[in-house]
Amino acid sequence: MGRPAKVEPMIVCIDCLGPAYLLSSIGPEDIVEVGNIISYRCRDCNDRWDIVADGGDESI
Ligand SMILES: [Zn+2]
Repeated sequence: MGRPAKVEPMIVCIDCLGPAYLLSSIGPEDIVEVGNIISYRCRDCNDRWDIVADGGDESI
């Protein structure tokens, strides 16, 4: 079992700075662990971003 990760519902697109939203809906009951890949799709340029989930702190 990994540590639970902090999942942002929206990130800022690195290319166009538009809003990129979660591709798969992750509800409060879904467990995302640190190191899992979460995918976002930019609303403006339609680029896909695969982000490695982190736990919100750097101490491992
Ligand atoms: Zn974009």
